[in-house]
Amino acid sequence: MDNDCLFCRIAAGEIPAAVVHETDTTLAFRDIDPKAPVHVLVIPKAHHPDVAAIATADPKAAADLLAAVAAVAEAEGLLADGYRLIFNSGVNGGQEVFHVHAHVVGGKPLGPMVA
Ligand code: C5P
Repeated sequence: MDNDCLFCRIAAGEIPAAVVHETDTTLAFRDIDPKAPVHVLVIPKAHHPDVAAIATADPKAAADLLAAVAAVAEAEGLLADGYRLIFNSGVNGGQEVFHVHAHVVGGKPLGPMVA
């Protein structure tokens, strides 16, 4: 755990979050500034700065993260009509919290992806 990392502290229960799903290795909680009717963040409990880092350092943790995304999508009722999965990566990718997190966004038609 990185004590300076916001999402490590949420994973440790030190900072409150609206948790919707939890496994031994992952935690999912509602984004505090939702961009759609459903906006859930899914994180590994272990600290990895971004998606490339987790894929390289611990492929099992990356697979666990994607399995948790699927479980959240199903629990939120998003599978029938679809949803968007976003990993912002690095400064140019708009990443603000450097603990890898998947944005699960949906609950309305989102239209084509725009950069
Ligand atoms: O991908 P990026 O790093 O920009 O996303 C960080 C996300 O974390 C933002 O959508 C922000 O609203 C969310 N956040 C949160 N709870 C916090 C701090 C940030 O849900 N305590």
